[in-house]
Amino acid sequence: MNALIKFFTLDTSDSEVMRAQFSSFSRHIPLLYVILVINTVAITLTSFSTQDLLKTAIIPALISAFSLYRAWWWLSEANPDDLSDEQILGFLRRTCWMAVIQTALFSVWVIWIYPSVSELERGNLSFYLALSQVSTVCCLMTVRLAATLVAMVSTVSFALYFSWVDDARLLPQALVLCCVCGGMGIITHGYYSSFFELVKSRRALDLRQRETEKLSRENRRIAFTDALTGMPNRRELLERLDRLNRQERVPRNTLAMVFIDLDGFKQVNDEHGHHAGDALIRTICQRLQEHCPDDAILARVGGDEFCALIETADASVSAQAQAVALATRLLQEIALPALIDRHVLQVGASIGVAANLDPDANGRELLRRADLAMYHAKTKGKGQIALYDKALDQGRLHRLDIEAQIGRALSRDEFDIAYQPIIDAQSGRVRSAEALLRWPRRPEGALMPDEFIEIAEATGQIHPLGLHVLSKACTQLQSFDPIKLSVNVSPAQFRHPSFEQQVLAILEATGFPPERLKIEVTESYLLANPQRALEALSVLKAKGISVALDDFGTGFTSIHYLQSFGFTHIKIDKSLTAGLASGNKATQLVSGAITMASALDMEVIAEGVEREEQVRLLCEAGCHGMQGFYFGRPMPLDRFTQYCKERARDESHVRAVARA
Ligand code: C2E
Ligand code: CA
Ligand code: CA
Repeated sequence: MNALIKFFTLDTSDSEVMRAQFSSFSRHIPLLYVILVINTVAITLTSFSTQDLLKTAIIPALISAFSLYRAWWWLSEANPDDLSDEQILGFLRRTCWMAVIQTALFSVWVIWIYPSVSELERGNLSFYLALSQVSTVCCLMTVRLAATLVAMVSTVSFALYFSWVDDARLLPQALVLCCVCGGMGIITHGYYSSFFELVKSRRALDLRQRETEKLSRENRRIAFTDALTGMPNRRELLERLDRLNRQERVPRNTLAMVFIDLDGFKQVNDEHGHHAGDALIRTICQRLQEHCPDDAILARVGGDEFCALIETADASVSAQAQAVALATRLLQEIALPALIDRHVLQVGASIGVAANLDPDANGRELLRRADLAMYHAKTKGKGQIALYDKALDQGRLHRLDIEAQIGRALSRDEFDIAYQPIIDAQSGRVRSAEALLRWPRRPEGALMPDEFIEIAEATGQIHPLGLHVLSKACTQLQSFDPIKLSVNVSPAQFRHPSFEQQVLAILEATGFPPERLKIEVTESYLLANPQRALEALSVLKAKGISVALDDFGTGFTSIHYLQSFGFTHIKIDKSLTAGLASGNKATQLVSGAITMASALDMEVIAEGVEREEQVRLLCEAGCHGMQGFYFGRPMPLDRFTQYCKERARDESHVRAVARA
C-alpha cells in the first residue's frame, strides 16, 4: 500500500532530481504540444463539419492555439538555473495537474466528436487518440506521476466509453489500449528509476570531481609554497619566470632579481639548534615582506636563500635601480638583531642583483645571474651587494674548474708544503717554520694559495686540505726538534664541530709533540663567532698548542680584546712591516703594539721582513721573531733542511741579527 501511495505521489525528496526532471521535461514539453497540435489538426480534418463548427473547428482551434502558446512559453522561459527549488517544485506540481486536466478535456472533446463521425473516421479517431496518449506519456516519462496520470485518465475514460458505445465493438481496441498503457507504465517506472539513479550517480561523480579538483588545488598550493614561511618557493618562482619567458617582448630594464643569502645562518643553526634557526628565518621573512614592494614576488628558494623579483610596469623606471635600493634596505633590515628563545641572534646577508639589460637575461637566466652576483658578493667579504657582470661568468667557470681540480689533487698527491723560517730576533736562530701550501704538480700549471684557498674555503674542501697540510707537516718536521711548526687554519675549519679533536688525532697519529705546534688564525672568525672560537682555542691550548693571531694590523681589533682569546703570539702583517721607516707612524704603531703585547705575555712576530732596515727597527722595538724574504723565502723540505744546517753553522747570520 505504501509503495502504491509512493507511486502516486510526487517525489520531492531530492531537489537535484527535481531539477534534472524539470530540465529534461521542459525540453520535451514543446515537442509534446507540437504532437498534440498535429493530432488535433488531424482529428479536425477527419471530423470537420460545417454544421458543428464549435465541436469540429472552434474547440480544436482553441486547443491548438493554447498548445502552441504553451510550447512557445516553455521554449523561451524555462531555464532551471534561474529558478529556485520551490519554483521548480511548483512547476512539477502544475505539470501533473495540467496533464490530468488537459488529457481529460482532450478525451472529453474526442468522445464528444465520436458519435458524429463515420465508421471509418472513428477508427482514425481512436488511432490519433492512441498516438496522442503514447507520445504524451513518452514526453513526460521523467515525471512519473504526470505520465502515469495521463495514461490512466485517457485509458480509463476511453475503456469505459468504448465498452458502452457501439455495442462494445471497439472494446478490443480499448483493451489493447489498456495493455499498451500498462506496458508504458512499466517502461515509465523503469525509465524513471534509472533516471533517478543516473542523477544520483552523476551527483556523486560531480562531488568526487570537485573533491579531486580541491585536492589537486591543495597539492599545487603545497608544492608551490614554502612550508616554514608560507612564502612562494623556488618552484613557484621558476614557474613565474617561465611564464615571463613566454611573453612576447619584455622591455629592457623592467625586470630585476634580488638574490639574498644569509651570512652566518649556518652557525646559528649549529649553535642554537634548528628550532631557533627556523624562528630566525620566519622573523627575517617578515622583515623582507614588510620592505618588498607589493607587486614584487618574494620567494624562499633555499634554506637561507630568498629572492625578490621586481617588475616595473613603467618602462621609464629602471628595475635595476629599484632592485639596488631594495637590496640596500634589506641588507640593513636583515642585520638587525632578533630576540629568539631569550637569545639575541644576528645574521647578515650577501645580495646579488641582476636586471634584464640584454635580451638573453630572461626567465631563469635572470635567477642564475643574480645567484652568481650574490656568490660574488659573498666572496668579496660578505655583507655586500653585487651587480651581475659578464666577467662574473668567466670567474665562475674558473672557480668550478678549480673546485673539481682540488678534489682530484688531494687523491693524486699533487700538493706539497713549503717551509718559511721564522727567526728569533735575540739569537738569530731558526726558531720555527711556517708551513705554506703549494700545488706544484697541478697538470694545468702551478697555483699559489691565494688563488685556490678561498675556493676551497667556499666549497668546504678546506677541511680535508687543512688536515692534509697539518698531517704532512707534522710528519716532515717531526725530527727538527726544537724547531716549532706554524700551520695556518682557515676560519671555515673552525666551524667544523670536531676540529679540535681532528687536530689532536693527527698529533697522536704522527707523534708530533703539541708544544711544538702553533696554529695561525685570522681575526675575522673570532669576531663573527667568539663563543665557538674561544671553545676551540681553549681545548687546543690546554694540550700545549700555541695559538697565533695572523695578519695583525689589517683588522681593527685591539690587542687587549685579542688577549681574551688567549693568543700566545701575534703576527704583524706584511703590509704594516712594509711601511716601517725610521721614526715614521708605522714604526711607532708597531713598536706600541709590541710593548702592549709583551705586557700581556704575548710574543710578536713580524712577517714580510725584506730589508735590513726593517730588521733593525723591529729589533729596536723589541720584536720577538721575524719572517720574510730577507731571511728566506718559503722553500721545499730538503732546502729547508739545508737552510737550518747552514744557519746553525754560519754564526755570522746570528751575529748580524743580534747586532741589529
Ligand atoms: P699568510 O699566512 O700571511 O702567509 C704568509 C704569506 O706571505 C706567504 O704567502 C708568504 O710566501 C708570504 N711572504 C713571506 N715573506 C714575505 C716577504 O718578505 N714579502 C712578501 N711580499 N711576502 C712574503 P703564500 O705562501 O702565497 O700564502 C698566502 C696565504 O695563503 C697565506 O698567508 C695563508 O693565509 C694562505 N695559506 C697558505 N698555506 C695555507 C694552508 O696550508 N692553510 C690555509 N688555511 N691557508 C694557507
Ligand atoms: Ca700565516
Ligand atoms: Ca700573515
